Amino acid sequence: MHCPVCKEPDLEPRELERGLVGAVCQSCEGALLSLIQYRYWVDHHDDKELKPLEEGPIKESENALLCPKCQKMMTKYRLGAGTRHRIDLCGHCDEAWLDKGEWQLLKQLDLHNQLPSVFTEAWQRNIRKQKERQSLEKHYEQEIGEEDFLKVKTFKEWLDKHPKLGQIKHYINIKF
Ligand SMILES: [Zn+2]
Ligand SMILES: [Zn+2]
Repeated sequence: MHCPVCKEPDLEPRELERGLVGAVCQSCEGALLSLIQYRYWVDHHDDKELKPLEEGPIKESENALLCPKCQKMMTKYRLGAGTRHRIDLCGHCDEAWLDKGEWQLLKQLDLHNQLPSVFTEAWQRNIRKQKERQSLEKHYEQEIGEEDFLKVKTFKEWLDKHPKLGQIKHYINIKF
């Protein structure tokens, strides 16, 4: 199998964690991970046996990748609203491509036991909503000013949970 990133024909089996073997590229250190094997690992490993986290730069393959197995286009999935990193998946083969450092990132984000949820529409929708919220908040922070926005935000959080929300909103809108 050829590496989908650097096209080198040298994917070799290597343990990402004890009992979890990926096909790792010797050049870019990306790894192809079979989700069937991964799911088995999730059910049978003990988190206490995880390798310690390694700090290191994460490579990100920005271009669309072709699955090393079937040559079909892989789909990129965002991990979360707080990170720009995306994981590639071939839905036909159920194989994920992790760029160098992305397994470490999954562990950092505590996603290493729930990788398949990242590939769901619900997960991706949630990220889009969070990002929308972040940009709306940024917009209002600029409009209102940092200090006052913080007050308004705290007030809104309190208000949104208040049982008399409707009445309070009406009161605020009264022009005395
Ligand atoms: Zn490679
Ligand atoms: Zn494939």
